[in-house]
Amino acid sequence: MEKEEIELKIGDRFPLTIKKIGINGEGVGYFKRKTTFVAGAITGEEIVCEVKDIHDKYIVGKLHKIRKKSPNRNDEFKELADKVGGLELAHIKYSEQLKVKKNILEQALERFTPAGWHRYIIKDTIGMQTPLHYRNKAQFQVRKINDKVIAGLYQHGTHDVVDLPEMPTQSSMTLVIINKLKSIIEDLDIPIYNPDEKSGIIKTLVVRESMSFKNAQLTIITNSQKLPRKRELIERINQEIPEIISISQNVNKGETTLVWGEDTTLLWGEKYLQETINGLTFNLSPRAFLQLNIEQTKKMYNIALDYLDADKNSVLYDAYAGVGTIGLSLAKNVKMVYGSEIIPEAIADAKINAEQNNITNADYRVDTAVHIYDDLIDEGVDINTLIVDPPRTGLEDDLLDAIVDMAPEKFVYISCNPSTLAKDLRELSKTYIVEDLQPIDMFPQTPHVETVVKLKRK
Ligand code: SAH
Repeated sequence: MEKEEIELKIGDRFPLTIKKIGINGEGVGYFKRKTTFVAGAITGEEIVCEVKDIHDKYIVGKLHKIRKKSPNRNDEFKELADKVGGLELAHIKYSEQLKVKKNILEQALERFTPAGWHRYIIKDTIGMQTPLHYRNKAQFQVRKINDKVIAGLYQHGTHDVVDLPEMPTQSSMTLVIINKLKSIIEDLDIPIYNPDEKSGIIKTLVVRESMSFKNAQLTIITNSQKLPRKRELIERINQEIPEIISISQNVNKGETTLVWGEDTTLLWGEKYLQETINGLTFNLSPRAFLQLNIEQTKKMYNIALDYLDADKNSVLYDAYAGVGTIGLSLAKNVKMVYGSEIIPEAIADAKINAEQNNITNADYRVDTAVHIYDDLIDEGVDINTLIVDPPRTGLEDDLLDAIVDMAPEKFVYISCNPSTLAKDLRELSKTYIVEDLQPIDMFPQTPHVETVVKLKRK
């Protein structure tokens, strides 16, 4: 019956009131009770929506016109936000973005209803003083258009590269460096990759900045082993961009959806970039994972450490460890740290990082979080303290079962996806009470929500 009421075609327009912001940052309204998503629209706004796509359960609309504008609107970054990803909330004033993120977490709990969720204490989102230029790494695609070298991100829904001499979320040093690299590469006339003709050499520039040491690591991703005029390129970089202390080449041949290839060679300079987080210095090889927002990472780790409340009796398991940043930060205060991570290079870095910081009570191993947990239990290790920081998919089912079963006394869950967090809490609440949820804004201007959760064994 209801279905017949909605006789809509693509291109039709109707008035819509926005009720909330959805998990991908779009405005959400209801057209004859059918959920309608409109990117760029804000809660409380009255808009004219133009139909872009019609699905069984929802409509995707385009913001045609705003009839009543929200006082929280900020159109400063509109032009870029319309073109590239990573600015899905940039049209909303920052103080309101923080409220939106808390609400996205509330919506996830409401949807998955883990036991006792009504009583959970959800704190206000911790934001940044200056929520701009925070990303310490730029990974920009390179193209040549009308004899000019450009570098940036793909335009929404296409493989056209948008040149980004400025990007409001990207650290200023990485932008300055990329802009200088563009002109050096143009001067030297080094062939740029052309995806249509599958020809050319330079595909991607990756620049990672160390916030502590104010220097940078460059990786040039190429379509072939050879990099013409390599020596001149390195010389000019040394002269004109002294901040770069390490230059590597990564080879990724042909058209692929992956940005990085398997093979990375150091061309010049230091093997590692170093970054300091809460008193420990970490060595980072070009591909090693590091959080992108160091200022917020420091706050997040401090909250996690505080929630974990570890002591000299703690035997800690740092699951999904990356290069070991969380576990190693705690090593001095606990009896023993065990860590797991599926990427072997990251574990190699974690080991070096332990050594370099004179940490002898850490044991990092390559395998899935659940396999290592099982191994440790088999070895008779009594894990009484647990920290997990899984990817967006959340905890593996078997690991959930094992945690519910073994129930380590102290437990902190760091989540980068409220939906999988809420789903996992459904299981975990069998043996744990959820004490506090602290959202923290690691990615201002985007809809990403990071949450630190304190769990207490029942
Ligand atoms: N705790 C780290 C990294 C978190 S990102 C930090 O704060 O920097 C999540 C990490 O989990 C990634 O490094 C990813 O490679 C790893 N990972 C993904 N699936 C995994 C699995 N099943 N078991 C162990 N690690 C996994």
